[in-house]
Amino acid sequence: MRVLIVEDEPNLLRQLKAALETAGYAVDVASDGEDGHYLGSTESYDAVVLDLGLPELDGLTVLDRWRREGHVMPVLVLTARDSWSDKVAGLDAGADDYLAKPFQTEELIARLRALIRRAAGQATSELTAGGVRLDSRSGRVTLNGEPVKLTAQEFKLLSYLMHHKGKVVSRTELIEHIYDQDFDRDSNTIEVFITRIRKKLGAELISTTRGLGYSLNDI
Ligand code: CA
Repeated sequence: MRVLIVEDEPNLLRQLKAALETAGYAVDVASDGEDGHYLGSTESYDAVVLDLGLPELDGLTVLDRWRREGHVMPVLVLTARDSWSDKVAGLDAGADDYLAKPFQTEELIARLRALIRRAAGQATSELTAGGVRLDSRSGRVTLNGEPVKLTAQEFKLLSYLMHHKGKVVSRTELIEHIYDQDFDRDSNTIEVFITRIRKKLGAELISTTRGLGYSLNDI
């Protein structure tokens, strides 16, 4: 899962990026509204954290433009403390959730997780496929109740497929959603990750549809 953070306070931006990376997300950042709008329009994100008070272009304008352009990714806006008018304006402009500053990072992560889950049509934070369980809160994966160790990239890939169970996901889509912007993307590594996940969790878990991509099966 890949997330964009648009925030102009350098310390908060750094802190959020580190926390989200630790939580298993690929993270891109922008520190003004112009850059943020550009990234959100041109890259693929599973969720966006958008501050409202931004230089160049304010957060409400950024959000409004994205929605007019047809970008539907879930957006959580950060509002000034107790500003009910900010919250209303944010929701009216197409925000999916808001959080007033200052906030606990854990709450932000929990809200993002819920937004991503809902966008994928999943009701709970525990995703299952046959004997495989992935807890998106703890980042733990089990096979028939036994813990399985996955690398950070294997986890990101599996998590994306589990959020889109039954759907054929192309290699390009996987690359767009498991790597951040600065990552040296090589589509051959996807095949390598798929092979390793099959080895750890069972070959029949992920099907290959030649020329189209991969899909996760409820075996
Ligand atoms: Ca700000």
